[in-house]
Amino acid sequence: MARPPSPLPSVDALLQAPESYVLLQRFGRTAVTAALRSVLADRRSAREFGAAAGDLIDEAANRLAARFARSQRPVFNLTGTVLHTNLGRAPLPPEAGEAAAAALQSATSLEFDLDTGRRGERDDHVAPLLCELTGAEAATVVNNNAAAVMLALNTIALGKQVIVSRGELIEIGGAFRVPDIIARSGAVLREVGTTNRTHASDYRDAIGAETGALLRVHQANYAISGFTAAVPTPDLAAIAHDARLPLVEDLGSGSLVDLERWGLPHEPTPRESLDAGADLVTFSGDKLLGGPQVGLIVGNKTWITAVNRNPLKRALRVDKGRLAALEAVLRLYQMPETLADRLPALRLLTRPEADINATAQRVAAVLATIWPDRPVRVEPCRSQIGSGALPIDLLPSAAVTIGGADLEGLAAWLRRLPRPVVGRIAHARLFLDCRCLEAADEASFIAQFR
Ligand SMILES: *Cc1c(COP(=O)(O)O)cnc(C)c1O
Repeated sequence: MARPPSPLPSVDALLQAPESYVLLQRFGRTAVTAALRSVLADRRSAREFGAAAGDLIDEAANRLAARFARSQRPVFNLTGTVLHTNLGRAPLPPEAGEAAAAALQSATSLEFDLDTGRRGERDDHVAPLLCELTGAEAATVVNNNAAAVMLALNTIALGKQVIVSRGELIEIGGAFRVPDIIARSGAVLREVGTTNRTHASDYRDAIGAETGALLRVHQANYAISGFTAAVPTPDLAAIAHDARLPLVEDLGSGSLVDLERWGLPHEPTPRESLDAGADLVTFSGDKLLGGPQVGLIVGNKTWITAVNRNPLKRALRVDKGRLAALEAVLRLYQMPETLADRLPALRLLTRPEADINATAQRVAAVLATIWPDRPVRVEPCRSQIGSGALPIDLLPSAAVTIGGADLEGLAAWLRRLPRPVVGRIAHARLFLDCRCLEAADEASFIAQFR
């Protein structure tokens, strides 16, 4: 006669078992009870009786670990795209991360003037720095550059036409499309010119009583070459100002410094746009600037005041953590000599190829011992700046490349490491571009494989 199955232990018995003690300390009674219940329920429905209490508690521990695991986690970005939008764009310097953490965990002088004891403005922590670094009269900060464009146009051209060249009606990855943003800003798009050529007369002929502004959009993520014509910004500003209209320029990435100083391709700066006569210039904080996700609007004081009075500004404003991080990053720009060392985005973009290659050699040596059956080697490759910046300029770099079967499976395994590793598959190999694996992280990267 078959022995009747021994019944499963009760939840109470499991909670009192010594093995549950650490779980209770860490996760609390509610969560541990729920996990034990779900383990017991699964055993019962699978008709598996007679499990040892220790095994049931171990399984509950696994479920608790999975349930409480952080969803957003630091990863190793070995994709070769430095400012990778899906991987959070620019990594912040430690002083910015610390400033953000301190601000988020405490009361701060966010909108409080410590000299007078009266109410202050949150933008005052960064606006003077932005003016100093761009030469602007005034500056303001919002959630991101998409918000900056929308707020600027809503302030200037609500219900009016915004004139844009057809060569600049671009889409940035995700959901930023210039025509859609203009429509949502409450302005009316007035396209002029053609995809490849737009002339001064196209703008002049389109200006009328309905016009609210001229808009220039930096062709961030593509280039038109061949038979092309565009109106230089100083000329466009003159056309706008002759008609008493403002010129708004969306620079996209924008860079606060001339990147050619570090051997990188030229990227237009807000200072250049303002010098050329643009009235408001918008750009992102987390692209080439190397800071947190924000959108910056700099330019004419009257227009910035109007932007700040717009009720939408309140809806698009930035929290104290990001403002603290932005302030710390902008302070690094006040010391340009050390910028390329201290600002991670710039440090990664200017990292010498020989240095990247040396990292790749060390990593390849370790991976070759872990996967003796796979071909592992170091190959030259090209990194991208990312975030739509400088699309045609690729930076010489070095990658560890891994061949063999089931590269998708290998990539998935790398993504399940404690600090996930994200590479890219190309030419039947998995590429791990080592540009963004800096010396300080190399030991912890390699330790994950041991
Ligand atoms: C990236 C980009 C945007 C959007 O900026 P976000 O900060 O991502 O909102 C807008 N315009 C241009 C030209 C860009 O390159």
